[in-house]
Amino acid sequence: MSGAEDKGSAPARSHGRLRPSVSRKPRALMEGPPRLAGAWCAKVITLFPEAFPGTLGLSLTGRALDQGLWALEPIDLRPFGEGRHRNVDDTPAGGGPGMVLRADVIALALAVAQVGLPGRAQWPLVYLSPRGRPFDQAMARRFAAGAGITLICGRFEGLDERAIEHFGMEEVSLGDFVLTGGEIAAQALIDATVRLIPRVLGNQASVEDESFSEGLLEHPQYTRPAVWEGRAIPDVLLSGNHARIATWRRQMAERLTKERRPDLWRAYRERHGGNPDRDQEL
Ligand code: SAH
Repeated sequence: MSGAEDKGSAPARSHGRLRPSVSRKPRALMEGPPRLAGAWCAKVITLFPEAFPGTLGLSLTGRALDQGLWALEPIDLRPFGEGRHRNVDDTPAGGGPGMVLRADVIALALAVAQVGLPGRAQWPLVYLSPRGRPFDQAMARRFAAGAGITLICGRFEGLDERAIEHFGMEEVSLGDFVLTGGEIAAQALIDATVRLIPRVLGNQASVEDESFSEGLLEHPQYTRPAVWEGRAIPDVLLSGNHARIATWRRQMAERLTKERRPDLWRAYRERHGGNPDRDQEL
C-alpha cells in the first residue's frame, strides 16, 4: 500500500478509543460483528490491515469473531506516517541495507491504540520479532487469561530499538526463522490464544489433551477406514476399553515426545519428579 493512497485519512488527534483505525477496511471490519462486553480483544498495528482477519476469519476463530466472543482491531500504521507521503520508515543509522520503522511514528499509533487500556499484566504490548522469546503454549495461555493484547507487526529491518525500550515492549518470536513482516506471526499468535478462550472452540475438552497441554506432544490420531493401504488402526483404539485406550495414548505421547523433542521430555520428567538422565521406563 502506498502512502499516497491513504493521505486523505490522516489521523485526527481526537480519534477515540474504539475507533482508532482510520482506513476504510478495518473500520468496516470493526462495524461488522457485535462485541460481547469484556470480550478478549487483539489490537494489531500494521502497515497491512487488509491482511486481517485473514485465516482468523475462517472456521472456529471466524465464527467466534462473528459472535463477538473475541474482537479484532487492525490499526493502520500508514496514516501516522510523516509528511505528504506518510513516511513510516527511514534508513538505518550506521548504514546498511533496508529501512527501519520510526519510533516517533509507532508512538503516534500507540497513543491512539493504548487509550483506556488496563495494565500490561492484563493487556500485554508485544512486538513480533525474531529476536523475541519463542512463542509457546504457556504464553498463549497467559495472553488468553488477560483482557486483550496489542501487537506491533514489523516490516523492513524492524523497529527502532528506542521504541521497544521506551514502551517496554515484550518481544515475541514465532521461531528461529525470518518472516518478511509480523502479520503472519500476529495471526498465529492470535489463533493459538483465541482458541483457549472458553466457548471459542466448540469442544473445550479437545484443548485439554492436545499437544503441549501437559508438556507432551499429542498421541497419533486415526479415523475410518479401519484399514487403509494395508495399514490398520491399532487394535486398542477399536477395543472400546477406555482405560486401555488412555494408557496407550499416554505411552505414545511420551514416546513421541522423547524421540522428537528431548527438550520437552526433559522438562516434563523434571516436573514429574523423574530423572530425565536415568529413565528406563520407555
Ligand atoms: N532485521 C530483523 C528482521 C526483520 S523481518 C532481524 O534480523 O532480526 C521484518 C519483521 O517481520 C520484523 O520486524 C518482525 O515484526 C517480523 N518477523 C520476522 N520474523 C519473525 C519471527 N520469527 N517471529 C515474529 N516476527 C517476525
